[in-house]
Formats: sequence, C-alpha cells, structure tokens
Amino acid sequence: MNVDEIRERFLRFFEERGHLRLPSDSLVPANDPTLLFTGAGMNQFKDEFQGKGRARQGVKRAVTSQKCFRTGDLDNVGRTPAHHTFFEMLGNFSFGDYFKREAMEWAWELLCDGFGFDPDRLAVSAYEHDDEAYAIWRDVIKVPEERIYKFGEHDNYWPADAPSTAPAGTLCGPCAEIFYDYGAHIGCGSPDCNPSCDCPRFVEIWNLVFQQFVKLDDGSLEPLPTQNIDTGAGLERLAAVLQGVSSDYGIDIFVPLVSQVAAITGRKPEPGTPDQERIHRIADHARGAVLCISDGVLPGNKGRGYVLRRVLRRAVRDGNEMGLDEPFLYKLVPTVVDVMKAGYPGLVERRENFARIVKAEEESFLGTLTRGSAILNERIEAVLSQGEGALAPDVAAELWDTYGFPFEMTAQICAEHDLTVDREGFDAAMAERQAGSGGYDSDQVFDTSALAQVKGFADATEFVGYTDADAEATVVALVVDDTVVDEAPEGSAVTVVLDRTPFYGESGGQVGDVGVLEGPKGRIDVADTGRVDGYFHHHGTMAIGTVRKGDTVRATIDTARRAAIRRNHTATHLLHWALRKVLGEHVEQAGSLVAPERLRFDFTHFAALTRQELDRVEELVNQRVIENAAVASVETTLAQAKADGAMALFGEKYGDEVRMVSVGDFSRELCGGTHCERTGDIGLFKVVSETGIAAGVRRIEALTGQGAYRRVVELEAQLGRLAEMLKTPRERLVARAGELVEETKQLARDLEKAKRASFAGATGDGPFEERARVGDTVVIAGSLPDAKPDDLRMACDQLRKQHPSAAIILGTAGKSSANLICSLTKDVVGRGLRAGDVVKAAASHIGGGGGGRPDLAQAGGKKPDGLQAALDAGVDALKAGLQG
Ligand SMILES: [Zn+2]
Ligand SMILES: [Zn+2]
Repeated sequence: MNVDEIRERFLRFFEERGHLRLPSDSLVPANDPTLLFTGAGMNQFKDEFQGKGRARQGVKRAVTSQKCFRTGDLDNVGRTPAHHTFFEMLGNFSFGDYFKREAMEWAWELLCDGFGFDPDRLAVSAYEHDDEAYAIWRDVIKVPEERIYKFGEHDNYWPADAPSTAPAGTLCGPCAEIFYDYGAHIGCGSPDCNPSCDCPRFVEIWNLVFQQFVKLDDGSLEPLPTQNIDTGAGLERLAAVLQGVSSDYGIDIFVPLVSQVAAITGRKPEPGTPDQERIHRIADHARGAVLCISDGVLPGNKGRGYVLRRVLRRAVRDGNEMGLDEPFLYKLVPTVVDVMKAGYPGLVERRENFARIVKAEEESFLGTLTRGSAILNERIEAVLSQGEGALAPDVAAELWDTYGFPFEMTAQICAEHDLTVDREGFDAAMAERQAGSGGYDSDQVFDTSALAQVKGFADATEFVGYTDADAEATVVALVVDDTVVDEAPEGSAVTVVLDRTPFYGESGGQVGDVGVLEGPKGRIDVADTGRVDGYFHHHGTMAIGTVRKGDTVRATIDTARRAAIRRNHTATHLLHWALRKVLGEHVEQAGSLVAPERLRFDFTHFAALTRQELDRVEELVNQRVIENAAVASVETTLAQAKADGAMALFGEKYGDEVRMVSVGDFSRELCGGTHCERTGDIGLFKVVSETGIAAGVRRIEALTGQGAYRRVVELEAQLGRLAEMLKTPRERLVARAGELVEETKQLARDLEKAKRASFAGATGDGPFEERARVGDTVVIAGSLPDAKPDDLRMACDQLRKQHPSAAIILGTAGKSSANLICSLTKDVVGRGLRAGDVVKAAASHIGGGGGGRPDLAQAGGKKPDGLQAALDAGVDALKAGLQG
C-alpha cells in the first residue's frame, strides 16, 4: 500500500464514521504569531477543543491529514530512520463527542481490519493512573495483558510531563499509544525490553490523546467543559511499517528522492555511513523546503524565513561535503512535486517557482561560503598571531549564523592549524542567537486572552462593508485592559465586537478601517480594525460618555480613507496581472500591503526589472485604468473559482466558499478585500520604486489617485527648478546635463594638469623649500593649504623627478586636521633612513600618528596649528638620519 493509499484509507475510514474531512491547515499557522510552524494536527482545532469555532456550529468530529514542520530535532534528521523536518500526521478528532472507548476501538479496527496488521504484532500502553483506558484495552478490545504497558506522565501524557511542567493555558490529557513490535530478535534483546526502550524493537504508530484538562495558573488541572479526542499517526512511519522497510527513507515517496540524490552526488547511501546521513538529510530537506515555500515562506533572516534558510543551507553543505560545488538542490524539486502531488495537487503548476527560489538561495549561499572561508582564515591567523590555542566559540557561532558554516567544518579547518573550538561554548552561543530569531513555543498553549474568550459566547461578525459605509449594530462584547467588561468608561482604550459591521478588519494585506461607533450614551473613535477567525475587533478610544454591552450603535467608517484603500487594492490586482503579462507566469504574489496612502506588492522574479519592463508595467496598468473596466465580485466554491482560472495566493488557506474578484475579463483573484466599482476610479497609477527584498523576491511600491497625481506634480516641480538652475528650457535639460557632465570631466583633467605644473616649479620659489643639503642629497619641506593626500603624493613624485637624491617632508593643514607625507629616494633608504620613523617623529606635533613603507609614509592628526613644528621636526629627523 503506497503513501497516497494509506492517507486515503485513513481519511475515508473516519469519514464513514461521521467525521468531517477537513483540508490540512497551512504550515504557517493562521492568526497565531506565537507559533513558527504548524507542528501537529490539533493546531487548527484549538477553538473547537474549548467548545468554540466550528464546534459552536455543530461540527463534533473531524479527520485530517495535517502537514507538519518541526525543527526542534533538526540535528537528528538524517541520523535516524524516522526524524523529519516535514511530515504528515493523520488524525481523528472529537470535540465533546465520543471519547476513549470509541477512539481506542476504531484505532484498533482500522489497524487490524483496514490496514491488515497482525494483532499479535501490536502492543499498547495506557497512563499509569488511567484504569479506564487499561480496562478498555484488556476487557473490550481483548488485548492480552502481557502486551499492555503502563507508563508515567513522561511517556503517556500529552504534552509529555504536562501535569508537572506545562505552562498555564496548556490543554492536556493522558494518552494511550499503539506500537508495532518487530519481535524480540530485533533490538536490545533484553528480557525487560518494552515500548519505552530506545532500541528499534517497538515503533510507535499511533498516539490517542484524551484531551480533558486545562492547566491553571496555580498548576492544577481543571476539567475542560467537554472531553475531547486528539489522535496522531505519523504517515511516513505508518507507511514504513506497512511497506516492511526499516527506515522512512525506504518508503515509496522517499525512494525516488534518495536515488536521485545518490545519482547527482555519485555516492551510495551505505547504511551507517556519513554519506547515508547526508543523502537522507538532503532528501528530507528538499521536500521540507518545497512544502514550506508552497505555503508562502521564503528564505530570510528571521523567523520562519530563517528556519527555511538554515534547512536549505544545511542540505547545500551536505552536497558540498560530497564534492558538489554547483547548485544541485533545485534539481530535486520536480521529484518532490511528483511524489507529493497526489496529496497536494497545487504544487504542480508552481514547480518552476520553487526550483528558482531554491536555486537562488543555493547560489547566494555558495557565494557566502567562499566569503566565510576567507573570514575564518583571517580569524585563525589572528588567533595564531596571539599565540593562543583555541578559536572563540562565538566566532564559530557567527560563522554558522552568518555564513552557514557548520560547527564540524569550522572545527575541522581549525584542527588543520592545531586549534580547538569549544563545542559546549558553541552550543550556548547558538542557543542565544536562536532565542533572538523567535523560539519554538509549545504548540499546546492556548490563547486565553479576553478577545479569545469572546469566541465562546458570541457568533462571528457579519461583514456588511462591501456595500455599506455605515450600519446599525449591536455591541456583543467590550474588552478593556484584556478583560471582558459590560461597560467601557470614558477615556478608556477599548476593543469592541459587534454582531455586524461595515469596518474592514485587517487581512489579506489590506489595512483595517477607522471611523466612529455612536451609541445612545457615547461615542467611540475607532483607530484600527483587526480580524481574527471571523471576529472583527474595533480598537479605539471611548471618546465621549460610555457604551454598554447590548447597546445599539451606528457604525460609520471614514469613507474618504476607504476610497483611497479601494483604489490601491484594485490597482494591486492590476499590477499583479501586468507583471505576469510583462515578466511571465512565474510571477506570484509573495506579500502585499494595501494602505490608504500607498500600495506595496512583493512578487517572485529573479532579476531587477529593467527600465523598459517597469515602464511597460506602469503603462499596461494605466491603459486598464483608462479603459474603465468593471470590477465585480462573486461568492463561489473554491473548485468553481479555480475552474474559472482565479489566482489563489501563496500559502493562503481558503474555505470551500470563496470570494472571487474579477476586473474586466482579464484578472481574476480570490480576494476578500474591498474594491473600486470600475478601474477608472483609480485615476492614475504611478510606480515609485522597485527593489529586491530577498533572493528571488522583488518589491514594487506605487501610488494611485491623488497620491499619484501629487507625485507627478512634484516631479514636474523638480524639473522646473532644474531648468531654472541650469538656465535651460525643459526640453533641452537632458542634453544640457550631458554637456555639464562632459565639462566637469574636462575641468577635472585640466585641474590635474595645473597642479602638476605648479608642483614642478623650482623648489626655491615654489611652496617647497630646500632646507638642507647633505652630500648630494637635498632635504625638502613645505606645505600646501587644504590639499588632499593625493596632492601631496603627486607633489612628492614631481620633486623626486627633479632631484635624483632627495628626502622630502610635506604637509597640509585644513580647519581641523593636518596631514604629513615623507618620501625618500632609493639611495636614501639604502642609507638606513625609514620614512615611517620620520613621519612618526613629526606627527606628534599635529596630535596624531602614521606609518607606511620605507620609502613613503603618511600621517594624520587633529591639530593643524602644529604643522610648522611638525615639518621642522621632520627636517631635523631627516638631517640627523642623513648625517648619522
Ligand atoms: Zn529494547
Ligand atoms: Zn486582493
């Protein structure tokens, strides 16, 4: 049975038992900034476990195959047969509906009847104080007692050790687990071997969690209003057991990846070798990276982007260690898409983009590897010159962090110079750095804020703002100081939830609306509107009087501001369309900001736009504006919208019902934002800038309407001022500027010539003076006001040409600094004089220091008044040297 069949059989089994089959949540958790990645199937059901969300609408049973990404165990990936960054978790869930008995019976039934496991090969466990679960295994399911194990809270509580160590707000419960037993001949051979043993004999295939408590601030466990079921079976692990292979890397979806890596590197994944570890890690990381990118994560320097970058770089390093010095990882992308497409069909059409993003990151990393090597060598030299025997662990951490140098590589290069690096110090330094990039908070901690509580007693907000700018609404909740209150006192900062609202809540890149809520006894000024899970949060100030829960209020948005936002949002869709038209279909939206005063659009593309491309994009958008095409929106199903060719966004999760916004007959996007009625409402579209923000990602900022018009007026005004300054008609400005550039170049050349000529003057009457003569050697000194160091050097050159044997010291003084230069002809150096010694002796008078080569040295200082004394001291030093 292949992976796709296993996934489908699991989902169908529970569907047939009244479970709603739901799509996997995105790897990027929606509305949960505390969490870097989705790490378990239950993440998307936090509300339902507390009787909120879909549970309030009657959904009591659900089944999913959830995409998961974990990096807590990154070092083990590749080393063990079953650790991954990306994996899929199968799970069935009950929200206050069925409980232990059904969950355990169904799991057993699916494993034995559905997947054909031999019951004698299965072992089970129960929490040591959960007699009920134990009895169900023994008396209902009839598992022989010698195959039922009891473990403590570390093994059989979820999260592990929750009763003793979990933070407040954690939802938890005891669990029961099911293991596959490979038999006593596998593993440690100890007669005491059991499923908690680290040896490979027992493999956990399914964990059934009985979610029933929430941890309180005082550490006690309080029963939840409902008893819930949360189960998880790792798809890859289940497949490995069913396909009779000892490692996840031997299952049907990994075999093509592993053999491709082996073919590219020319190495074999021999068991237990470093090559096998590397090949497996590359296969895992290539798959994980593609799935992350498909959910909208791009390589970057912080948060999720940083995690993705580390994963990609680790794989590139592995390839590098096996002799590859060119990008290779991107070649695996089509294979990843191929093995994953049955579960995630959306990957297929975007495979080119994934490959380009991976390749761009590979190229930039191979560049930093070279720079990093140079830096490491510099540091090593510094350590050696100090006579020390160890490289500071901070340096190793910086090399890994900034240049992607693994510790092992730094240590190896150091060892070649007989230097050590402290591993523990490195680990500590890395932990510190990672804390700065955003940690990996437990995915079990629940949002216990007042606004989250509102979901328990109020329905989601009805949004009427597509058509209405004001509406009568009822106040369903007020939150002041993170507490749900009945009345907001005057002057307080308050968040209001209404039953319906015309205020757009920030989402999809479009900022929230501002406006006022007027009740019978007071007015709230709304400064921003947010949106979480369909609940609109009006954040504002209780400006006059009070507002009470249950009040009817008139909610009115700032319509001028909204109109500006609308123009920018519709223009964003036009820009997206025009970019695809000019640059190609690989252009995908990677982020956007739609504000009243501007718009920002991030997209995938692999080079800076040329002037012509940018002009063409701007022109196309403005053509569509002038056409005044109609903008329309329809509510439809996701399937229908896709059939109609609507563009869905990078990493966005859509429900079955979606809103499709069309502009004319050329642009269709899934979008919940607010739009113009016709493109002509945009008025004018003007690009302000185009920049790169990451490998393979560009950003355009642009203006519309009044903002675009003001921009044009401003540019016009600048042209006018230029024309005035240059006393040239506007139409000749470019030609005139060209002439001026030429003139400036010519002037610089003339100036250079003039300087040379002036330095060539006789030393007697020029700025330079012959101060002494020792044998055939002339000692020359002099100063040039406000000269550059280059001028001094040029003067020395000229003087040396005139005097075959010369010792020269020149200086210059500005307002707050002075410079000296000493130049000696070869014969003088041959007599033991050093230019560096001379400037050092002189520089103390100008309050500075300096140095250089034996024949040419320079110094600078902050005391211009001391220049004459410095020159005199220099002359003395020269005379003394020549005579001695
Ligand atoms: Zn064992
Ligand atoms: Zn949109």
